[in-house]
Amino acid sequence: MIVVGAGQAGGWAAQTMRTEGFQGRIILVGEETHLPYERPPLSKGLLAGEGTPEQCYLQDRLHYRKRDIELRLGTKATVLDLESRQVHLSNGETLDYDKLLLATGSRVRKLDVSGGKLANIFYLRTIEDMLLIRPRLKPGADLVIVGGGYIGLEVAATACGRGCNVTVVERERTVMNRVVAPEVGAFFAEVHEKQGVNLQFGGSVARFEGQRRVERVVCDDGTVIPADVVIIGVGARPNDELAAVAGLVVDDGIVIDEYGQTVDQHVFAAGDVANHPNAVLGRHVRLESWQNAQNQAITVAQTMCGNRTPYRDVPWFWSDQFNLTLQIVGLATDWDSLVYRGNVEEQKFTVFYLRDGAVVAANAVNNPRDIHFARQLVAEKRRITPSVLSDLQVPLKKLF
Ligand code: FAD
Ligand code: NAP
Repeated sequence: MIVVGAGQAGGWAAQTMRTEGFQGRIILVGEETHLPYERPPLSKGLLAGEGTPEQCYLQDRLHYRKRDIELRLGTKATVLDLESRQVHLSNGETLDYDKLLLATGSRVRKLDVSGGKLANIFYLRTIEDMLLIRPRLKPGADLVIVGGGYIGLEVAATACGRGCNVTVVERERTVMNRVVAPEVGAFFAEVHEKQGVNLQFGGSVARFEGQRRVERVVCDDGTVIPADVVIIGVGARPNDELAAVAGLVVDDGIVIDEYGQTVDQHVFAAGDVANHPNAVLGRHVRLESWQNAQNQAITVAQTMCGNRTPYRDVPWFWSDQFNLTLQIVGLATDWDSLVYRGNVEEQKFTVFYLRDGAVVAANAVNNPRDIHFARQLVAEKRRITPSVLSDLQVPLKKLF
């Protein structure tokens, strides 16, 4: 078994192969030099100065040694040959495989504007990125963040906590457009503004200016924002080129079936790079989330070991910003009405997304109890009268 990509999905897949009883060789190939790790702390606690990078590792080195999982870290898989069932590595090795898992994840989308190569302009994806950014988030530093998505808002909250002057440039009219309704985005925007974040909507960056380091950000509406540091968070792209060149079907990620299998019966994919048929949503989707990286990798590894297991999780995400924890179930892509439950002023509420009367997604803000039931409602696409859903006197538990 070869696992290409030693991130969260790759790490979980390799260890699952052993717990499933597979006794042959398992080789985990990763371009980064780190053991498989989780990225969420990179924009939250670690960036705030809490803990060490090693605390993000899924497991320590001994764990892999004990399970006889061979590691090829700092090594890139460069060519995949489906016919000979071989993968070529950047260290010169060629590995034969019976089954191969592609868990190559995603990378940052680059912003192609003038001045983008000036010093002190960063993206955030890896431990190394975080280590470069962290010491620059000093009290009084002018930080400009491009993109009001997950990275933008989590970093904004963390940097505010470190005393930076934070501006977020977002081209839409509110924040987190990709993942929540405009009304929920507006709630988060208001919280950020109250905490002192300057939100600039409706435009993007025209260019970065400065001598050697970035000194200002010029927006396309002519606004000039002073900057000591810039962090760009304008989305991610799947690392699917290895698969595409090999001849696998790629369409915004590697296309797989619900067991994680590609069009080649020996090759599978999981995590950020995989475009899978989601039973709950009724269509193919590529998810960029902690839950998907872990659980999809586990089920695909089970299938690879002969225990065919479909992946049918309801999508779930979370984000921490200031004193708010947002949890999301389902995908807020297609709805016709929103139902609020709880108290928005007290910052403890749930928003249900309904389409034709059925619950298709939910956002819980500081309301973890609701999310468990919301997940079931989304899974079952339950039709519930809005007045019942919003009535705090009716426990969600009673709906089942
Ligand atoms: P990745 O983590 O991208 O790992 C893929 C690995 O494969 C990488 O190490 C890469 O170098 C390697 N690789 C790629 N190509 C090759 C090759 N050819 N050969 C060898 N190796 C290769 N999700 C949430 O749900 N909640 C959060 O709060 C959250 N916070 C996040 C914060 C940050 C800063 C970031 C960047 C992401 C966050 N996410 C969060 C998203 C989550 O971390 C990702 O969805 C998850 O990391 C995906 O795991 P993966 O293993 O599929 O891919
Ligand atoms: P993201 O969530 O897709 O957000 C990107 C944001 O940037 C969007 O709001 C987008 O707005 C905006 N944008 C795009 N181009 C822009 C431009 N030229 N100028 C200004 N704004 C622009 O992606 P991300 O925040 O960069 O996160 C990267 C990856 O890390 C994703 O996989 C994400 O899921 C993951 N991540 C997840 C979490 C979490 O789950 N809590 C936390 C951090 C990171 P438009 O709508 O206009 O495109």
